[in-house]
Amino acid sequence: MIARVSLEIALRKEFDYLIPPGLAGQVEVGSRVQVPFGPRKILGCVTALAEESARTNLKPILKVIGAQTLVTPQVLKLARWIGEYYCCAPEIALKSVLPEAVRKESSGWRERLSVRALPVGGEFPKLPKRQQAVWNIVEERRELALQELLDLAETTAATVRKLEDRGLVEIAPEISERDPYAREHILPSQPLPLNPAQSAALEKIKAAMNRGEDGGWKMEDGKAAPSSILHPPSSTFLLHGVTGSGKTEVYLQALAHALELGKGAIVLVPEISLTPQTVERFKARFSSGKLQTLVAVLHSHLSAGERHDEWHKIRQGRARIVIGARSAIFAPVEPLGLVIVDEEHETSYKQEEAPRYHARDVAVMRGQMENAIVVLGSATPSLESYYNCKRGKFTLLELPERVDDQKMPHVRVVDMRQAARGEKGIPIFSPQLKEAIHQRLERREQTILFLNRRGYSTSLQCPKCGEVVQCPNCSLALTFHRQEQKLACHICGHVAPVPSVCPNAKCKNPAIRFAGTGTQRVEETLARLFPQARIKRMDADTMRRKDDYRNVLGDFRAGKTDILVGTQMIAKGLHFPNVTLVGIIYADLALHQPDFRAGERTFQLLTQVAGRAGRGDVEGEVFVQAFAPFHPAIQYARRHDFTGFYEQEMEFREQLKYPPVSRVALLTLKGRNEEKVKFSADHLKRMLESKVQSPKSKASSDGATLDLGPWTLDLIISGPAPAPLLRAETFYRYQIMLRTRAMSKLSQALAKIIGALALPDDVTLTADIDPVNFT
Ligand code: ADP
Ligand code: ZN
Repeated sequence: MIARVSLEIALRKEFDYLIPPGLAGQVEVGSRVQVPFGPRKILGCVTALAEESARTNLKPILKVIGAQTLVTPQVLKLARWIGEYYCCAPEIALKSVLPEAVRKESSGWRERLSVRALPVGGEFPKLPKRQQAVWNIVEERRELALQELLDLAETTAATVRKLEDRGLVEIAPEISERDPYAREHILPSQPLPLNPAQSAALEKIKAAMNRGEDGGWKMEDGKAAPSSILHPPSSTFLLHGVTGSGKTEVYLQALAHALELGKGAIVLVPEISLTPQTVERFKARFSSGKLQTLVAVLHSHLSAGERHDEWHKIRQGRARIVIGARSAIFAPVEPLGLVIVDEEHETSYKQEEAPRYHARDVAVMRGQMENAIVVLGSATPSLESYYNCKRGKFTLLELPERVDDQKMPHVRVVDMRQAARGEKGIPIFSPQLKEAIHQRLERREQTILFLNRRGYSTSLQCPKCGEVVQCPNCSLALTFHRQEQKLACHICGHVAPVPSVCPNAKCKNPAIRFAGTGTQRVEETLARLFPQARIKRMDADTMRRKDDYRNVLGDFRAGKTDILVGTQMIAKGLHFPNVTLVGIIYADLALHQPDFRAGERTFQLLTQVAGRAGRGDVEGEVFVQAFAPFHPAIQYARRHDFTGFYEQEMEFREQLKYPPVSRVALLTLKGRNEEKVKFSADHLKRMLESKVQSPKSKASSDGATLDLGPWTLDLIISGPAPAPLLRAETFYRYQIMLRTRAMSKLSQALAKIIGALALPDDVTLTADIDPVNFT
């Protein structure tokens, strides 16, 4: 037998190896193997088995890694799709579906020494006092970790070894599983009685799960529905529920149903909201009772060892539910019954390095491949998902009200142009917001202030000559960080001292000024305005260590903090009953991004942040300070009107053929020599244009023609243009944007074109399919 192996070194090719008799029966599709490659030994993954090979002189597989196949056939299939759709080499796609900690050759289990009492044969010996004390413990416990025994008996390993010499105990290594949540105290929770909207949503999801293995839809009399008459109901749901409407409870009960059907499930949440609080809610529900199961957690803050153990708990079928960030979509859950993607609109589901996959879209694809139900949830769905509901690809489920009839917070938009009148600079706080904060402090209620920009001020500018201190590596102004007394680049991390005079040699004006406001400055101004207030800041600068996040939120929950200032880190999923005021300092910052989703992002951000207010008994109030107070994104968010926003935003997307009416591929060329980058971009553009098949011409034989079928006329090629951030980390970047409705076909054609493209050595090209980041 022959195994086809994809090697971990990127070669865009698979190689055949012999399965030696000694390994027969151990090598399967998905097995991880070590194989010879030239003089080296390399790890790879078996992608197929064959009877014969086109080549002779095949070398044998050296060994099989791991007792179980590590890449299940389902995940292997998914990886292949990712390679094709996202235009990347199959081995890169394959590599991303197995965590690094699991891919290692050695087993990653942690072993520790354990002491076990052996049966005493014959006369029990008379032991010295110390040994007797140790024996008493071992006799009672029968088996325990050596370290624990040493702690209890206050002795050294030598004493225990003496007992071993006497044949009374055995000391042996044993696997000790790591549990990243061992420190948390988790109280079991029971399903809540659902309100009518929640029940209706859950029933639809359960009905879809009950449709069964064949995916077929049964009529009421049990006969299969004739497919010619009926559209099969979709197996992907969009759960659109306002913040606090009880989406999580629906997820929990849908998960329980998957377990009842004997299936497992994956829950994706954005990394940032993967707080202990969120994880606990899921662990608590399945920690006891007849549906008890381990809930595995996968995210980037785990140690490699913890990740290894969590992954194997899933692979061994002991953890039936997985909760994790983006890459948890590849968890080896089998059989998979349900995938939940919470906050499905979040941009962090998109991976910004190859393979540049979008975990939500991969989830939908995996659901289709494995006949699993997919539930996407959000208070502010992406236009893509909502559009898919309108077209009948997804089924829309709605939770329009907050649980317990809590009112939506009252949102006031403050015109900052008025607040700025008569002021010297641009104010941070309007009089209205200042007054509202003051009231909350008096009433001992809590406030959250939000500004999506960290640092103290955004730029250092000379008022005389206009010079702005720029990053030497990027086309971006440096941000002033006052506490550290330094200037920093938020793209590449470059740090520079603060100049005391204008750096322009001809000017040298000593009166340089800081412009723009960041979270540090908000915090400082706040402390000056309200000296008695207890203030904490939460942004990438203050959240450096693993526990910072937990500590700050813990203090806030416990009422030890009055005002929490932060960036989008505080916008998500947090639930604090005593927060009655939310202030958004500059709501239109995100509107001016060079991105066709700028309006959508602003709408989402405002709605999410506003959702943090009034989650307790007192009605919440939100102040949105804006310089463009009548912008639709701000006005629709003020009225909590998602559909209104959707309708007006779609007009613009239709007109300009932006997603969701089309799909985008963004080609970025980068290099240190701007002329070469530009030239290469022009060359690529001409190549693309020449490959576009006009509907009349015959299919050409080179196979690299952009044969997009009926959509050919639909392809729009724009650019090349300098990237919005022309220079980043010393590289110049130019972009070409492609829009089409037939992305799978375009991806295939692009892979061929890119493969045949000759670029100068120092210019690189990346293809980003369905990009979310255009800078
Ligand atoms: P969302 O995820 O939509 O923001 P949550 O699921 O966090 O909302 O629900 C908000 C709060 O309401 C939580 O404290 C939750 O326990 C509670 N809750 C949810 N459903 C119900 C229900 N049916 N009855 C009572 N309380 C509920
Ligand atoms: Zn920089």
